[in-house]
Order: sequence, then structure tokens, then C-alpha cells
Amino acid sequence: MAYAWKPETEADLGGIPVYTDVQTVEKLSKDFYWYSPVLDKKLKEKRADAVIAPRSEAEVEAALAFAYRHRIPVTVRGAGTGNYGQAIPLEGGIVLDLSGLDAILEIGPGFARVQSGVRLGALEKKAREEGQELRIYPSTYAKATAGGFVCGGSGGVGSITWGNLWDGNVLGATVYTMEEQPRRLTVEGADLIEYIHNYGTTGVMTEVVLPLAPRRDWMQTIAEFDGFESAVCFGEALARDGSVPKRLVTPIEWPLPSFFKPLLNVLTPGKSVVFAETDGGSLPRLERLAAEFGGGVGHVIPPEKYRKSISLSDFTWNHTTLWALKADPSYTYLQAGFAPDRYLEQLRDLKGRFGDELLMHFEWVLGGGRLLPNALPVVRFTTEERLYEIISACRAIGVEIYDPHTWLLDNGGRGALPGMRMRKKLNDPLGLLNPGKIG
Ligand SMILES: Cc1cc2nc3c(=O)[nH]c(=O)nc-3n(C[C@H](O)[C@H](O)[C@H](O)COP(=O)(O)OP(=O)(O)OC[C@H]3O[C@@H](n4cnc5c(N)ncnc54)[C@H](O)[C@@H]3O)c2cc1C
Repeated sequence: MAYAWKPETEADLGGIPVYTDVQTVEKLSKDFYWYSPVLDKKLKEKRADAVIAPRSEAEVEAALAFAYRHRIPVTVRGAGTGNYGQAIPLEGGIVLDLSGLDAILEIGPGFARVQSGVRLGALEKKAREEGQELRIYPSTYAKATAGGFVCGGSGGVGSITWGNLWDGNVLGATVYTMEEQPRRLTVEGADLIEYIHNYGTTGVMTEVVLPLAPRRDWMQTIAEFDGFESAVCFGEALARDGSVPKRLVTPIEWPLPSFFKPLLNVLTPGKSVVFAETDGGSLPRLERLAAEFGGGVGHVIPPEKYRKSISLSDFTWNHTTLWALKADPSYTYLQAGFAPDRYLEQLRDLKGRFGDELLMHFEWVLGGGRLLPNALPVVRFTTEERLYEIISACRAIGVEIYDPHTWLLDNGGRGALPGMRMRKKLNDPLGLLNPGKIG
């Protein structure tokens, strides 16, 4: 029988805040699933029965023991900025809001140990004050939490140099199991693979240890090109240039830049662009390189203005899609891995077939030590059938698609799912953690 939430529940829980009012529960049951018209239709009506908001690790433990006792499903929430409905409870129950666990516990040489609800923006700010910075972070870093990134994200700004979450960018985690007496696990090394990008299905993370890099003075530039192919090729050359330290290399096809309202006064209509964050002293090198590919560097934001005004990263990664969606809600997107040795051929094939139905946006990243032309193409959505026709066409020519229109965990293609399924049996024997997300 379903648990009957009543005013006494908070007292039963030892005073941990519990919210059952419709407005709070609805708000904290949703993430950015609506980026996908497919998910939007299927997840709109899903919501928890209650939100529990622990303020300490002891309260997390007590909340999990309570949920286990009453057989209530638990879906963990950081900031709720995920795009696949990962944080949406499919079977009701509890949303465990961990945004109150927001202490930066320790910053040492090359690492930060934080509670999982710490916002990455706050951590980056603090680390930079102390001469260090995050290696990688999502473009949502201002809101996104450390635990949410590790359990629901993949990579972002910095991935061009440091790779994705799986490339040594998580050093350790403290995880609670979902049992009668929840166990506190300290996870390190190879074992982390069963917790990275797990959607909270194999355990609840209360602490995370992230590596830090020495702080740099980052310059932001917009290079402009007549065609998108030149922009991507310039991107590759910049990505490969070991003499230029970098955080971001993002080629974007026109007309996507026309949706970037706050930048319209510094963009040339009709030009495809590459947004880059590179070392402060690299402008002459960027100018030479852009000229080699028939383009030029236009707008430059010098290092002194870093984070003091709008950042170019606010238009990259899945923010590119957001600007398109703001301009026209019929857009959606895909997540694609082009082949490093024939991405131009694949690009021509897809553009030839789909034209402006598929607007291109690449992110050059390092993945598993290889330079990869990853992409988040913006798609003009008509029907689900057509969307999957496009996905099939991509796959048929060797462009990998990490489908963002499903809530099912595929672990970003890292092959960790079998291990996760086993880990789930051990850590969550009743299957109460975010049920329905592991297929
Ligand atoms: C505009 C936009 C741009 C984005 N850009 C990027 C990007 O550059 N890179 C990227 O990787 N992602 C990106 N995302 C997706 C998302 O913002 C990030 O992955 C972000 O790090 C998620 O953090 P969060 O705190 O919002 O997590 P949430 O959405 O709250 O949670 C994500 C998943 O992790 C689980 N979870 C959260 N905290 C815990 C915990 N402590 N223990 C166990 N499970 C937990 C949740 O149940 C959920 O399944 C973008 C999204 C948007 C809307």
C-alpha cells in the first residue's frame, strides 16, 4: 500500500524538512526533460508524492532508512538541470533534494572535496580565488551541483583538454546504499565507473572529490568563417595545437548564431563561428590559424573580463540548443559522435540529405585520450518517426547517436551498464532508487 503522507511525517523523520504541497513537489519533480518533445509528452504528468530535503549526511541516511522501511521509491535531485528526465520520479515516491548539502569541505593541491549539493559555479569561484580551477564543468555550472554532474552529466567546458567524467575527472565519492541500515561507502579508482552517470540508481552520493587544475587567465574569442566546414576544420587545428592551452573549441553553423540575442551586435550575419576559450596570450596564434582556414577572429573578450560579463560558454554545449529553443520551440537536438577520420564526409552526407532540418554544432573534446568531433546538432522537430529516421540515417553512416530522447540509462556508451546492474542489486536490493531508469 502507498505510504500516506501526513503532517506527523516530519516528526517521524526526526525533523528533516518534508514538503507535500503540490507547487513544491511539482517544481522539484521536473528537470529540463522538455528539451525533448518525445520526453515532454511522456513525462509531463510524472511527479513525486513528497520532497525530502536533508541538511546533513546523517539526515540523508535517516531519510533512506525511512524510505526503505516504508518501501518508498527515492529519486535524488541536485539542481534538476538534466535533459533526459533523469531526475523525474517515474513511480512517484520521494524526491530527495540534496541542494542543502552544499559545503566545500576541503580544497587542497589538485583536488576539492565537496558535499554533493555544492553548485559547481560556487566551487569554481572558490577554487579560482585559491589559484586553482575546475578541470571540467557543464555549461550549466552556475546552477548545477557537483553530485548532479557526476551522476547525470558527461563533460563540458574543459573536456577539450581533460576529457569527460570517465577520464579521471572524478577522484572519489561517498555513497549511501538503500538498505534497512544504509551503508556508507567510500568509492575510488576503477569502482567509480559504477557510480559515474548512474542517475542515482546505484547509490546516493553525499560527497565528491574532483580534481582541480592550476588557474589560468582565459581569453574568449569568436572566429568567423563563410562556411561551417572551415569552422570545424579550424576547430580541429586549434584543438590539435599543443602550444595553445584551451578550455573550449565550439564550431557552430549559421543560422544558429542568429539565435544568440545578447551577441548579435558582435556577430556577422551569415557566418559560421567557432567560440573558443584559450590562454590569454594566444590571440596572435588564433588569428594566424583562422586566416589559414579563410576566416578571421572577430569579437575578443580579454582575460580581465572573464566571468565579469556574459560568457561565451553560455552559448555552447546544450546552451546552444536552449537559444534555438527560445527562438523557435519546434527545435530539439541530438547528441552525436562523428568519426575523427571522416567527419567531413559524414557531415556532407547529412547536410546533403537533411539540409537545415539539422543545424550543426560541434564540440571538440578529448575522450579516452583521443580528439573527438562530438556534436549536438539542433534538429527541426516534426514527428517522433522522422526524428528516429534521422537517428537511423546517422547511425547508418557511422555517426554514433547517444539518444537524448529516452530516460533509460545507456551510460554514454561507456559499457558500464552490466556492472551497474550488479551493483544495484547489492546496494539497492528492493530496486527503490530511481526505478525505471536502468533498462
Ligand atoms: C542549457 C543546458 C546545458 C547543459 N550543458 C551540459 C554540459 O555542458 N555538460 C553536461 O554534462 N551536461 C549538460 N547539461 C545537463 C546538466 O545541466 C548537467 O549534466 C548538470 O551537471 C546536472 O547537474 P544537476 O545538479 O542539475 O543534476 P540533476 O539534474 O539534479 O541530476 C542529474 C541526475 O543525477 C542524479 N543525482 C543528482 N545528484 C545525485 C547524488 N548526489 N547522488 C546520486 N544521484 C544524484 C539525479 O537523480 C539525476 O538522475 C546541460 C543542461 C542544460 C539545460
